[in-house]
Amino acid sequence: MVYPIVIYGHPVLKKVSVDIDKDYPDLDKIINDLFETLYYSDGLGLAAPQIGKSIRIFVIDGGPLAEDEPEMADFKHVFINANITEKYGELKPMTEGCLSIPNLREEVNREYSIRVSYYDEKWEHHDEIYEGYKARVIQHEYDHLDGVLFTDKVSPLRRRLLKGKLAAISKGKFEANYDTILPGQKIKSD
Ligand SMILES: [Zn+2]
Repeated sequence: MVYPIVIYGHPVLKKVSVDIDKDYPDLDKIINDLFETLYYSDGLGLAAPQIGKSIRIFVIDGGPLAEDEPEMADFKHVFINANITEKYGELKPMTEGCLSIPNLREEVNREYSIRVSYYDEKWEHHDEIYEGYKARVIQHEYDHLDGVLFTDKVSPLRRRLLKGKLAAISKGKFEANYDTILPGQKIKSD
């Protein structure tokens, strides 16, 4: 099932999500739905809060980047109860976007490398080090679980300049080829 994507300004995007158990209801379906929604909306990663669920899961599929970033070609992962335990290296700037903030791209500084522990969809535990683009996408999705969006990380000056644009986005003034839930609209619970 393809979910509509929750848009900037909706309170669910600011909530801190909770860890889940192995027997969380319909977990397999939620994971499938996250991937389906990700593919439908042409994203690289999608976190559960973006479909209105405050639980600590996100999915990444770097396939669409394969041409420009070959290391991302086979990078398809489910991260459950992820925990970034270390960040290393200098902060590096890179332009990011987000399905919850359509038509806006901004430069964001993040650490080059991270160590992350998580469970996968088979509930196997991993403790891994990632760098470069992979570390970038993981950090972006992980932030969603803590109610943090990439626009929270741009410089204070940029943020002031973005205020009007973000207000317009939260009122539905954007083009997206996927269904959305604006602030004030109810999230359907299934
Ligand atoms: Zn995002």
